[in-house]
Amino acid sequence: MIKLLDKSIADKIAAGEVVESPVSIVKELIENSIDAGSKSIVIEIKKGGKTYIRVTDDGSGIPKDEVLLAFFRHATSKISEAKDLDAIGTLGFRGEALSSISAVTRLEIITKTENSKTGLKVYMEAGEVVDKSLLGCPNGTTIVIKDLFYNTPARLKFLKNDGTETGKITDLVSKLAVAFPDISFRFISNGNIIFATDGRGNRGNTIAEVFGHGDFDNLTYATEIQSKGKVELYVSKPTISRSSKRNQIFFVNGRTVDSKVIEKAIEIAYKERLFEGRFPIAFIFIETDPSLLDVNVHPNKKLVRFDDEEFIINLVASCINKAITSYDAISQASEVIKEKDLTISHEPVRYDSVSTENKESYPQVEKPISYFENTKPVEREVQTEEQIDIKKLLSTRPREDKSTSLEEENSIIETAVSKPFNVDDLKVTGEIFNSYITAVDKNNFYLIDQHAAHERIFYEKFTNAYLSDEIISQPLVLPILFNVTPELYAIKDQWVRKLASMGFSLEDFGPLTIRANEIPDFMSISEAEDFVNSFIENIESKTDFNNDVIINKLITRSCKSAVKAHDKLSMEEMVYLIKDLANCRIPFSCPHGRPIFVRFSPYDLEKMFKRV
Ligand code: ADP
Ligand code: MG
Repeated sequence: MIKLLDKSIADKIAAGEVVESPVSIVKELIENSIDAGSKSIVIEIKKGGKTYIRVTDDGSGIPKDEVLLAFFRHATSKISEAKDLDAIGTLGFRGEALSSISAVTRLEIITKTENSKTGLKVYMEAGEVVDKSLLGCPNGTTIVIKDLFYNTPARLKFLKNDGTETGKITDLVSKLAVAFPDISFRFISNGNIIFATDGRGNRGNTIAEVFGHGDFDNLTYATEIQSKGKVELYVSKPTISRSSKRNQIFFVNGRTVDSKVIEKAIEIAYKERLFEGRFPIAFIFIETDPSLLDVNVHPNKKLVRFDDEEFIINLVASCINKAITSYDAISQASEVIKEKDLTISHEPVRYDSVSTENKESYPQVEKPISYFENTKPVEREVQTEEQIDIKKLLSTRPREDKSTSLEEENSIIETAVSKPFNVDDLKVTGEIFNSYITAVDKNNFYLIDQHAAHERIFYEKFTNAYLSDEIISQPLVLPILFNVTPELYAIKDQWVRKLASMGFSLEDFGPLTIRANEIPDFMSISEAEDFVNSFIENIESKTDFNNDVIINKLITRSCKSAVKAHDKLSMEEMVYLIKDLANCRIPFSCPHGRPIFVRFSPYDLEKMFKRV
């Protein structure tokens, strides 16, 4: 016999789709608050949202006679006719969140519209009204949810531990707060305020308010508009990096998305600017015609597919490039000296209990092990009041001035793209320790790592020649001889051919000996010797000479070996070196990501001498 399910069973079934875990409830409630035009939203959870979720807003409220209706399935004020479906500007529209949520929880709603003198409070259990009363309350809506899945215990056991659920909610609320900087968000977990944003519309400030001051105060801003879209971004200078991509957050047309394409653009832009295995912080906001997108490939995975991926990669990479080749993005003495927390740096742990999956894994290569133990106290130690203040003062992004209006503030931020750094402006003043060139421009003093600079120049000359097929070689009067192992000798045809494509002409010169008759024109004999030795030392029998990534690694390593440290340079040689550097594609760091320049502002120097 076919019969209609009664409401409570139908709702419980539907609830499965909307209510998977506490984070999905929080998402629906916040989206409703945003749709209601709220200026301020408070989110409070306990035990990862399993026992308690509260969302309070100051939005439109729900008229008394519509409150119960809102809890029916497919009850929505956001669409009335099928044709509206195409023109949806709000976040939710299926009209099933409240009915689904109420079906599996104990729920209290308090709501009041502006036109009404009193508010209405309704208490429900499993979707059934238990109590209803009038009360005095501010305009807006509060929804309190207790005891998730109390009537469907089987679902309870699919929830992760409190720390993990808290982490998921923190992640969601953080991203929404950054996506809507005009709305003030306050997020409380187990009685602790995790973050609060001021809702004044300044995105840079909002990011720091949410993710913590320090690194997030010092992101570089840039924006770019091209035919098919616009990007605005806040990215870290290459001095600041992370061991995972967790701080790379993307928004497309206001919604947070995951995108391999945007990740790729970041990777391209930071190539050779960071050590291997390090990732920048990046908040990227793309606006583009919705018809060029395929969002919501899956409603929860929030993947986005771009019609023109190449356009997006170019747009984002070129904008990041603008940001990190600016004057502000040159490593500043005050930051580099703090390098201690460069390696360990991550936003303060603010989850009540952190699950292991939220922890960053620290690379074991850059610092002794002891740094990685007990990261929290170390971070506390280095972030003294004084240092935070210095950072604020040195921060080149205009700070918020309480007296400026919102428009003014936005316009400051719009124009805050700092001017490009120009190596040509540097005037060499001398050298210290046979290792560091000293130089000045109009506003700053610089130390330049001569070895890193030389490595960069050598590497770019090399790769330019290699890639352009216009290799100029110089014949050697006295050939260089290389002794090789039997294994290498056996596969010599492959690597001799590869080195020939780089401008070395090599030939077999008897057992286990190879002779070089010509080398690339810009190399000295000893550089060529060291280059080839390093190149062949790193070849293994399984080396694939057609794999560009592997070949590039061999080249980078060999360039490093070819360039010698601690050569004393004459003034002319230094000036020449800086000229060469100015012609480089990436004059900021050596091919391995080590910085070439460190910048001292007059303020840095005054600070060192306790003048300020
Ligand atoms: P949807 O958001 O898809 O319309 P919901 O079940 O989430 O469906 O909400 C049903 C209706 O309840 C909404 O259309 C809206 O009119 C009203 N509503 C829900 N939450 C709020 C809120 N915080 N403020 C004002 N109205 C709300
Ligand atoms: Mg909704």
